Amino acid sequence: FDDRNGQIWMDGQLVDWREANVHILTHGLHYASAVFEGARAYGGHIYALSAHSQRLIDSANIMGFPLPWTVAEIDEACRATLAANNLTNAYVRPVAWRGSEQMGVSAQKTKAHMAVACWEWGAYFGPEALKKGLRLTIAPWRRPAPYTAPVRAKAAGLYMICTLSKHKAENDGYNDALMLDWRGQVAEATGANIFFWKDGELHTPTPDCFLDGITRRSIIALAQRRGIKVIERAIWPEELGSFSQAFLTGSAAEVTPLAEIGPWNFQVGPETLQMAQDYQDLVHGRITGVEPVPSTQA
Ligand code: PMP
Repeated sequence: FDDRNGQIWMDGQLVDWREANVHILTHGLHYASAVFEGARAYGGHIYALSAHSQRLIDSANIMGFPLPWTVAEIDEACRATLAANNLTNAYVRPVAWRGSEQMGVSAQKTKAHMAVACWEWGAYFGPEALKKGLRLTIAPWRRPAPYTAPVRAKAAGLYMICTLSKHKAENDGYNDALMLDWRGQVAEATGANIFFWKDGELHTPTPDCFLDGITRRSIIALAQRRGIKVIERAIWPEELGSFSQAFLTGSAAEVTPLAEIGPWNFQVGPETLQMAQDYQDLVHGRITGVEPVPSTQA
């Protein structure tokens, strides 16, 4: 991914894609002192950009390395990178990390750095997923308890178990893995939140130990706009058979229907496809006046 043309924003400047490097003793590489974002641009407009920039700042604060950039400055860095690469429909990846100014667990003297890269990225699960639905298996790893990790940060270290779970799922012939939390409740997929349909209502796990996604909160707002009741609650894997449809949500994944989780099957039904269409209408600006609902996380 590093050998290509393009421009990447790094600490305030646009640099050539191939020159966007860090030193091997970067603290973030050794100790996972890194946080990131993932947004998408549609027709040149980055959906919920400031919400992503704010979350990057919040994540860095949780990790103890406050960023010397404001929301407006991060927004501008994202827009400038998109423009410099002549992209209108693209994925936008801001990342921030502790640098190579100091080595060791103690990193008080490191500086906070930031970069933004953009590239074309089609449907996260491929073009067929919207029609066929995804096949998920249950991950061998569980989302950690809030007292064992900074679960509210979009922190690089929390993705260690996501990559392990995703690889195992792919190697076993599935598209992705459903991760349970430390209690054994349904949590999320490896890079997206999850919703279920039952009797015309939406059920989704309470986000008390995983990311309360911006897409998730947009879907709740879109459902409310249609008068659909959304129930946030503890969901146990034993209940999966009682849901008729299910889908994933994420900035990269958008709205992707599920066909299967382990032994349970789901319909790719009209209600899910309606939410997928509503989300596309929202991000393309065809639905206006709908904002992601505020996060219920403290
Ligand atoms: N959970 C995880 C683990 C994720 O990586 C993502 C993608 N950022 C999400 C949920 C969904 O978050 P959002 O809708 O804000 O992209």
